[in-house]
Amino acid sequence: MDVLTLNFVNLYIALAASSMLWLLYRTEAKPPYLQYWTFAGIFLLLNASLGVLFLTTDQMPYWLAPAGANTCTIGFHLLLLAGFCRHWQRPIALFWLVGVVMLVYATNLSDFAQASLSNRLLLNFPVIVSLSLLSLVLLLRHWQKPLHSIYLMFALAFGLNAAQFSLRWAVVVANQLHLDLGISEQLLHSLGFFGLVAFELVIFSGCILLVKRQQQLALQHASERDQLTGILNRNSLEQKLHAEVQRCQRAGKCCSFIMFDIDYFKQVNDRFGHIIGDAAICHVVKVTTEQLRPYDLMFRYGGEEFLVCLPETAAAEAVHIANRIRSHIEHSTLADCPQAQLTVSVGVASGGLHTLWHHLVSEADQALYQAKHSGRNQSCLFSAPQPAGVC
Ligand code: GH3
Ligand code: MG
Ligand code: MG
Repeated sequence: MDVLTLNFVNLYIALAASSMLWLLYRTEAKPPYLQYWTFAGIFLLLNASLGVLFLTTDQMPYWLAPAGANTCTIGFHLLLLAGFCRHWQRPIALFWLVGVVMLVYATNLSDFAQASLSNRLLLNFPVIVSLSLLSLVLLLRHWQKPLHSIYLMFALAFGLNAAQFSLRWAVVVANQLHLDLGISEQLLHSLGFFGLVAFELVIFSGCILLVKRQQQLALQHASERDQLTGILNRNSLEQKLHAEVQRCQRAGKCCSFIMFDIDYFKQVNDRFGHIIGDAAICHVVKVTTEQLRPYDLMFRYGGEEFLVCLPETAAAEAVHIANRIRSHIEHSTLADCPQAQLTVSVGVASGGLHTLWHHLVSEADQALYQAKHSGRNQSCLFSAPQPAGVC
């Protein structure tokens, strides 16, 4: 395929990608990183338009093409990187973005760059390789498991892009040193264009997939989390607990449950109001979470009733954890209302190889009932006889 046709292909891709990203940005939840990628698409569009004009007319001023067109290619890579940084909540300051683009443009206007195409390639390719490698390294550093397949797609695209531009740069250097590598510049240029077009297609589809996947994850998060406290809600109980108890059983370990309820909570609401009541619920969640391990699961089971799943934990340790939570809540102070005295009653149940998760929840509930009836602010272990040798 000749260079003009490839430039047209580039133009169509850039036009389709930037309009699609812009429409997505307008119609969806407007993730800020999408703005950067839409601008990346626009830079590519400018680059391809200038490329087509450069090849079809003889009167393009140097400052527009190739100097402006080359700057657009680098601007495209830079905006892709800036979009990723925004996606990781580490935005690059506009000052740096504009600064780098101006520097690249100034370099392209230098006498050295104006002297020949090879000189421009020598100057611009290392910048593109550096930006691609930097994007790759940052992707690997900020790898997010739920976005694994999309990140892999991006990582491959950046890796291949860096390799493709490095190879072309090496050939230009070899030609300058009059070394014959047996690769014609024309062939290399066409391959480079194919590489760039493939890179654009993968990157832009990746951008769209990332937006969609993030929306899906946000919906999933909202459906399984409690709005007030951010912990898991009752809807996710069955799925999470079934999986967790089965995992413990496969490992031949015990699994324990703690169910607790704030004592006399109606009085907190009646005396201090519902807003303080809400703050008290969040406070209890915060104090409890601080006492749990990262792999323990905490659910809001009811209004002011909570369930904690302690994987691979035997009864004695679970009772110890339950008492620690109870004591920390009792001795903590609610910042918004220090005079509110909060205590909880706790029920503990523990099971082994043959116990179903809902039996454990029911036993923890019964133990909680027992703790309430024994005077509140205490922990009770479910006392039905356990099959011998289970825990
Ligand atoms: P007990 O010691 O027997 O548990 O007494 P209690 O007063 O805590 O009794 P109960 O558990 O029946 O009362 C729960 C109260 O919690 C009733 C309800 O108005 C309140 N509540 C439930 N959810 C919320 C919430 O999200 N915010 C606030 N502020 N109050 C809530
Ligand atoms: Mg209560
Ligand atoms: Mg209750």
